[in-house]
Amino acid sequence: MTIPFLDLKAQYQSLRNEIAPAIQNVLDNTAYILGKSVTDFEKAFAEAHQVKHCIAVGSGTDGNHLALLALGVGHGDEVIIPVNTFIATAWGATLCGATPVFVDCEKDSYNLDPAKVEAAITPKTKAIVAVHLYGQAADLDALKKVADKHGIPLVEDAAQAHLTEYKGKKVGGIGTIASFSFYPGKNLGAYGEGGAVTTNDDALARTVRLFRDHGSEKKYHHETYGHNYRMDGIQGAVLGVKMPHLAGWTEQRRRAAESYRRALKDIPNIVLPKAMEYSKHVYHLFVILAERRDELMKYLNDHGVSTGLHYPVPLHQQQCFAGLGYTQGAFPVAESFAGKLLSLPMYAELTDEQIVYIAEQIKGFYGR
Ligand SMILES: *Cc1c(COP(=O)(O)O)cnc(C)c1O
Repeated sequence: MTIPFLDLKAQYQSLRNEIAPAIQNVLDNTAYILGKSVTDFEKAFAEAHQVKHCIAVGSGTDGNHLALLALGVGHGDEVIIPVNTFIATAWGATLCGATPVFVDCEKDSYNLDPAKVEAAITPKTKAIVAVHLYGQAADLDALKKVADKHGIPLVEDAAQAHLTEYKGKKVGGIGTIASFSFYPGKNLGAYGEGGAVTTNDDALARTVRLFRDHGSEKKYHHETYGHNYRMDGIQGAVLGVKMPHLAGWTEQRRRAAESYRRALKDIPNIVLPKAMEYSKHVYHLFVILAERRDELMKYLNDHGVSTGLHYPVPLHQQQCFAGLGYTQGAFPVAESFAGKLLSLPMYAELTDEQIVYIAEQIKGFYGR
């Protein structure tokens, strides 16, 4: 059996007949940038996330940047960033000219550790960015408590967390401002680049809209400095078609995760991801901790199962951040996980039969 890590084709096949006319409509109306398809999608996405404003942008990275820019983060400022995340979380800070200040993750949730955030706060700290890693909400109440105590905004990087819930409420509107990614492999994926910023704050939403489009509300009149971070009309159309399916796909991912839990229990060499009580996990990724990870990865690959690493190198050990002066041992939890994390295939179309096969291979590897 051959099982890809990600199967974008399966989803496309199920949508072909809806996608083609939606794209044709954009072409017929020559609404290539922003336009009605994007506005309609923004409305649907905001509603689904119980948040007042959604501003569609060109990518999740654009969203990370704009969220912090709108908060006034700039040169000389510091932004707290979890050390186990995709690099783009840190780009939000560096694109503003600010310095990322890394904080370790929790053992159970793999998310930003609220207990360690406080020690990283200095008078220069302008924001705390929590990532809902792998699709599970960070402990937002605990993080908000620290943020409020110091008068610092809490930002959500929800790139992996479409429809994730924290204590019964959707993420994206719990912190001061949030960003999402619609990179094709995310739970809600465009057919190109895409992202969004969400917030309940009217003034912040207006600022993000201005920065997204050359600092201008009225063509050729520029209130502020800006960027070109607009979403394409075709991406708006694709995302608009996909939006009504998202809740169903999320339930299928959650079902696949439960099948994994059943199939993988009683293997002493691996640790399954812990589902925290406060979060409804949307399983962007199903990440286990595995003994002899690299050998297991190769064994699975040899037996037709593709896997991924999220992430093999914690941010403080990335070459690009060598100048920040972090040393080995600075973040013991993330460092100890980096060599053990293994992401198993995960998508809505993954079948129980495939999951049983994957589990058999893992058992086969450790039982040799
Ligand atoms: C994917 C991702 C991003 C960046 O999104 P792009 O759309 O690829 O720019 C940012 N943060 C996290 C946590 C991500 O997983």
